[in-house]
Amino acid sequence: MEPILIVHGGAGDIKDSRVPDKIKGVKIAAKAGYKILKNGGTALDAVETAVRILEDDESMNAGRGSVLNLDGEVEMDASIMDGSTLAAGAVTIVRDIAHPISLARLVMERTPHVLLAGPGANKFAEEQGIPRLLPGSLITPFAKEALKEFKKKGGSLTEIGGKDNPGDVGTVGAVALDSQGHLAAATSTGGINGKMVGRSSDTSLIGSGTYADDEIGGVSTTGHGDSIIKVCMAYAILKNIENGSDPQKATQSVLDKMSAKLNNTAGAITISKTGEIGVGFSSKRMSWAYQKADTIYFGIEQEEVQSEKVIDE
Ligand code: ASP
Repeated sequence: MEPILIVHGGAGDIKDSRVPDKIKGVKIAAKAGYKILKNGGTALDAVETAVRILEDDESMNAGRGSVLNLDGEVEMDASIMDGSTLAAGAVTIVRDIAHPISLARLVMERTPHVLLAGPGANKFAEEQGIPRLLPGSLITPFAKEALKEFKKKGGSLTEIGGKDNPGDVGTVGAVALDSQGHLAAATSTGGINGKMVGRSSDTSLIGSGTYADDEIGGVSTTGHGDSIIKVCMAYAILKNIENGSDPQKATQSVLDKMSAKLNNTAGAITISKTGEIGVGFSSKRMSWAYQKADTIYFGIEQEEVQSEKVIDE
């Protein structure tokens, strides 16, 4: 089977000044994840690696660079799913660790549960030997500035909406199909700028932010999480595919339906079990990239598809 891996770097009203870094970031992560697949690695390892790279990238809203809640703190969510077994793991409202996606994977592999929250998630991280960072070390000057701007406009109450809170976006996600025909998906986020303390996102919810099933496909979503949750977006896209829709239409139709009904925007990346791609967003922009054979495809604007040959170092 020809392996394939796609990543996104978040959907939203991305500022022009942030565009080059977002594109650079998704290309690096897509190539690194694909390399694992090309060397016979699993879809699960590939999506975890790609998302870890994006969590380390300060221009993304995940890991270091995460947006801030109303109290100026980073609270992160992540989820991962193995399409071959439907095993899944997730964390929400986790603090001060570099790679929430790896903690989500440990929840999947080493606990009987799917989702661990807050102090319990951090306690599990400590038990698993994941280093606890000094409080505040994931906070970037850009994130501080975005919260300041949000508070200036919106007062102290969370009033999240695309146009009123461009803040920052850049939730990250990856979906992969490996040479054995197995699918996996992973998503990680700092949430939405100016969110209430203790708010959980779609990214922590299997079926909304992340889903993978070898018999259908894999999906990772991004955008207005409180809307994404209401349409169970990742699962809804896969249901469309199961009912005969191609991945592109399956993805776009759920996004369009959500935006029409709830007046908010989102994006998603999809791979079907046969390796067909869907990339859609109802927001102004979403950075994405995928590698297939020796070509990387990428874009950030509506209708934009660029491609480049990848020279192996
Ligand atoms: N879906 C994320 C959330 O609602 C944000 C994003 O994707 O940009 O927290």
